[in-house]
Amino acid sequence: GDPLLEVRNLHVHFDTHDGVAEVINGIDFTLNRGETAALVGETGCGKSVTVKAILGLLPSARIPAGEIVYKGENVLDLSDAQRHARRGTDMSMIMQDPMTSLNPVLTVGEQMLDVLKWQGRSRLSFTSWMRDKLDRGTNDAHRERAIEMLGDVEISAPERVFESYPVELSGGMRQRVLIAIALLSEPDLLVADEPGTALDVTTEAKVLDLLDDLVEERDTSVLYITHDLGIAREVSDYINVMYAGEVVEQAPTGELFANPQHPYTRGLLSSIPSLSTGIGSGIEGHLPDYTDPPTACRFADRCPHAEPECREFYPYPRTTGTDHTVACHLFDGPPAHARHAEGDA
Ligand code: SF4
Ligand code: MG
Repeated sequence: GDPLLEVRNLHVHFDTHDGVAEVINGIDFTLNRGETAALVGETGCGKSVTVKAILGLLPSARIPAGEIVYKGENVLDLSDAQRHARRGTDMSMIMQDPMTSLNPVLTVGEQMLDVLKWQGRSRLSFTSWMRDKLDRGTNDAHRERAIEMLGDVEISAPERVFESYPVELSGGMRQRVLIAIALLSEPDLLVADEPGTALDVTTEAKVLDLLDDLVEERDTSVLYITHDLGIAREVSDYINVMYAGEVVEQAPTGELFANPQHPYTRGLLSSIPSLSTGIGSGIEGHLPDYTDPPTACRFADRCPHAEPECREFYPYPRTTGTDHTVACHLFDGPPAHARHAEGDA
């Protein structure tokens, strides 16, 4: 495929009272144009930190190494002003909690018009922006566009919702409004952080179907964050499984489900509740302390297959199939990333 976004050897550190928290420890993944890739892992595994680093929303973090290449340009090299101009037009994000991501004191319409005005400013030169401001037709055109977008997300009374405050809407409606807002700027990259998780299962399924149709029509690339491998299977072409700030396995969706390899991936798979019992077996234990993580395999304390070597040698990712990489001593293959080739004895 044609890469839109390439994350290479990304490290993200936070300074805490207990020392340096190494929250992202050298991850690599690619999102191709027109495709959907998922970052999957339990809460706290670094998914949200990763996308915030991509969107430039981590003012207190340090990025000691790595590249985030978007449209061929390392965004970590851009100035704040350059990044600011890009965010919101090229990249949009749908937050996971519609209640806290919408401004309660503004109507839906006011929030949508803000996005359209902001987009106009960043795309046009100042003079054309002024001309634009003077054009009385602009507000009407923006209003029309916003209401049309509310219709696109299948809100049945868009004019009424346009005039409503968030508190007047159901959870499902608010989630649709957030999708509409994210798509207003016609982003090439849409980051979706567990949309629908605040909703009941039926409404969530409808929202995910809708989102799927909308990005398909627009050929938008989507980076999907979820703790739920079942949802990742529904929505994505490619899955990156994260554990404790590392990508432990990555593969095209069909391949990952046909041939799951890493013990953590297998644990996640057995955590998907069975249809008959509704109970998943889960994975015992919890994520390591990021200020004092295991130096070799970060999953060793929870892994049913852990051997002494797992605590001694770092399991760097190896290629085990087409576009399939696994970071575990149980699996052999050529190093997935050139930077690991030298240590490959
Ligand atoms: Fe388990 Fe060892 Fe593989 Fe880590 S490297 S996942 S501890 S088998
Ligand atoms: Mg999160």
